[in-house]
Amino acid sequence: TSSDVKKSKKQRVTSKGNNIPIPLESFEELTTRYDFPSRMLQNMGKNGWIEPTGIQAHGIPMILESRDLAAISPTGTGKTLTYLLPIIFKLHAPISQSIDHDVGKGVRALILAPTRELAHQIYNESLKICEGRKWRVVLYSKASAATLADKGVRDKTDILISTPLRLVASLKEKKIDLDNVRHLVLDEADRMLDTEFLSQVNEIVASCPHGSLQTSVFSATLPGSAEQVAMKMLKDPIRVIVGLKDT
Ligand code: ADP
Ligand code: MG
Repeated sequence: TSSDVKKSKKQRVTSKGNNIPIPLESFEELTTRYDFPSRMLQNMGKNGWIEPTGIQAHGIPMILESRDLAAISPTGTGKTLTYLLPIIFKLHAPISQSIDHDVGKGVRALILAPTRELAHQIYNESLKICEGRKWRVVLYSKASAATLADKGVRDKTDILISTPLRLVASLKEKKIDLDNVRHLVLDEADRMLDTEFLSQVNEIVASCPHGSLQTSVFSATLPGSAEQVAMKMLKDPIRVIVGLKDT
């Protein structure tokens, strides 16, 4: 909504890390700096995404430049798009339409959220970005787990969104492999890195062996203990913190 966007102008963003990419001034820079197709920008405008929020301005270039990050930004500041937009751009084309034989088979981006409801919200946001293109985004559930057990279906899946529990169960039964995952996101990381999910999350991270895995954690808050765990998972990480001024 417009009030969210206005609020974003008042956001104070602090980034710490080595060689921090320059933040975006506007979404148009996605086309000039990173060669986003203008069609993608039009599609964003249709969804009302006109100006980047603070976390988007800073976080999108980081993922586009293949950096690991821990991002802390309040609820409602557009964290979902911050990772979905650059990941989808970097995957380049749906696997079903790819002519690049180097991309390999199977899921290339994995997004984890603590509850099915949150996973579903992420799924809905991804459909808005992917509209009109042949991306295959799968929300992991009992039903889709059964479908994905078929290698033919699995090989054509671009993005998988799951809760840790469901995914660990499938990993144990060898019904899925994460060998080709090159983008891993832990959303709502304060919960994902808390005792309830930590061992499952660790198991999933250990099951993502890709040499150029890019990992990000996103949260509204991140207690010190969770942040320490996060930093161990990340390579040469950037830590981005968004604080709202005058609140
Ligand atoms: P968070 O994960 O930080 O709580 P969400 O990603 O769920 O926030 O986004 C909240 C709402 O803001 C969504 O409806 C989303 O489509 C919208 N939104 C995201 N980015 C923008 C933007 N740049 N301009 C306007 N609305 C946006
Ligand atoms: Mg969110």
